Amino acid sequence: MVFERPRGVRDFGPGEMGGRLHVESVLLGTFRSFGYRRVQTPTFEFLELFSAKSGADISEHLYVFDDKGGRKLCLRPEATAQVARMYSSELRNLQKPLRLCYVSPMFRYEEPQKGRYREFWQAGVELIGASGPEADAETVCLAGECLRRLGLKARIRVSHIGVLRELLNLQGLGETEQNRIIHLLDKGDYKTVQESIRDSPLIRLLDVRGSGESVDVALKLVPDGAAKRMLEDMKRTLNLLDAAGITYEVDFSMARGLDYYTGLVFDAKVEGLGAQNQVCGGGRYDNLIGLFGGPQTPAVGFAFGLDRLIDSMESQSINMAGYAPDAYVICASEDVRTQAFAIADKLRKEAPAKIIEVEILGRKLNKALQYAAEAGAKYAIIVGANELKEESVMLKDMNLQKQAKVRISDIASHLT
Ligand code: AMP
Repeated sequence: MVFERPRGVRDFGPGEMGGRLHVESVLLGTFRSFGYRRVQTPTFEFLELFSAKSGADISEHLYVFDDKGGRKLCLRPEATAQVARMYSSELRNLQKPLRLCYVSPMFRYEEPQKGRYREFWQAGVELIGASGPEADAETVCLAGECLRRLGLKARIRVSHIGVLRELLNLQGLGETEQNRIIHLLDKGDYKTVQESIRDSPLIRLLDVRGSGESVDVALKLVPDGAAKRMLEDMKRTLNLLDAAGITYEVDFSMARGLDYYTGLVFDAKVEGLGAQNQVCGGGRYDNLIGLFGGPQTPAVGFAFGLDRLIDSMESQSINMAGYAPDAYVICASEDVRTQAFAIADKLRKEAPAKIIEVEILGRKLNKALQYAAEAGAKYAIIVGANELKEESVMLKDMNLQKQAKVRISDIASHLT
């Protein structure tokens, strides 16, 4: 009998996991270097957590089920609402600003295609308790730094949902209608947007894009008041991005589909991935924590889609460190097995970050070297009785196909 997997989920073999763990550790290392501390949220929640802000329609896109007590639960589609819930109930007394991060699988009932899965991984951050341009700039910088450390070429776009909403407010549109228009923008359906809001500065604003200076163009379009103040803040944020050397494009037609955003929003897209090319999305959400019973607390965050990052690294031919051994320890004859085992053990202690594998199937030297080459080993360490008499081994550089006698005490320093 053959068992199939449900649609939209995947197995990851060891070849893929090498790359996935590399990307995950670069992201977590970068988050950590900006002072973000990791949290973990549950895999399932009460459905209400996600429908509270997005409405009951969201169920269509979720894995919803009843538990044995008849409670409506769902698998988490994203972590921001969860972190906001956790903050409201457990973390609100911690010192601000609070910098949190996570990596977790998410579940969405979507039509699977390349880059769109029903189970996928997100790595993200939430910066809680800071409302100013510095906080917005910090998150965009952090996303940019992650992309730089991964070696990925991507385009960062920034926009401002608060300004869009304020202009819709001034037109007298309520929240539901605003959400509808923002969803249309997110889908790129400008035609319907134009038909819905004919005479508004918003229509002209949607065409404003380019460098940071385009905010000056936007400032001339909007009336005095909240929208102008938000644009002034956005200008300050962009100045900070310039100071940090982050390249971005302003594009006011960019709106992110999630209903909880209230301020600056941004995304990152890569080339060569086709339709599902957005690898990161985020923005400011100042009302979400209040919605979950916490005090009104400003917050900003983003999430990377790990699966798409990995696809794009492959398409940009970026090498992802995998599980290839740094050194493969081989016995030249059976009588040195114990010493070979001990040498591997010593190397692991001296170079704990290196992958040291030992030949354990009793293969002869040639076959063992062939295996080492196929496994992508950088070095083969050939342990032979003659060299052992001199406290040495033969160290073979598998790329250069050259070998030299090296003292056992010096091997670790050769494993570059
Ligand atoms: P969102 O939570 O919708 O803002 O998405 C944040 C990031 O998660 C996106 O930029 C994508 O990289 C990734 N993502 C969202 N949905 C999926 C999916 N169904 N499959 C794979 N990645 C996804």
